[in-house]
Amino acid sequence: YTGKTGSELLTDKIKKLSVRDYHSVPVVVNDQANAYDAITTMFLEDVGTLFVVDQHGILVGVLSRKDLLRTSMGQQDLTEVPVHIIMTRLPKIKICQKDDLLIDASIKLIENQIDALPVVQESDKGLEVIGRLTKTNITKAFVELVKNEDV
Ligand code: ADP
Repeated sequence: YTGKTGSELLTDKIKKLSVRDYHSVPVVVNDQANAYDAITTMFLEDVGTLFVVDQHGILVGVLSRKDLLRTSMGQQDLTEVPVHIIMTRLPKIKICQKDDLLIDASIKLIENQIDALPVVQESDKGLEVIGRLTKTNITKAFVELVKNEDV
């Protein structure tokens, strides 16, 4: 018997959860794409955040629903608006890695008031996008903690 309280045991469990077990596949658009392409991809892939990558799959930007909504409120032709002028770009992008703790990634989402983090892996060309960690992934982990309570 460890003498730990229920809440300490729960904390121990949470601190074992890793990004690698909960992230989703990334949905990306090329940095040459336009706002219309990005909106189409967002609808077809049913995601709220798109990652913008170069021809090597290296992260260059992030596009949220509101970035695209804001762009859509203007009068311009959306096929004439390149995503690279409306995206949030490096070095402002908050990222995570497969081996990060889910709780640390969650804290990043909360502190920066964002919905998703790209899961990246360093390569010689830059940060390769290998996944997507969203608030939905964290909600699922939260639900699983209760479901897996086998007593
Ligand atoms: P929404 O804008 O649809 O509410 P978010 O809250 O995720 O969605 O995004 C808020 C702003 O933060 C947007 O301008 C978006 O480009 C930016 N953003 C989203 N994800 C990240 C991230 N991982 N790192 C840095 N900025 C981000």
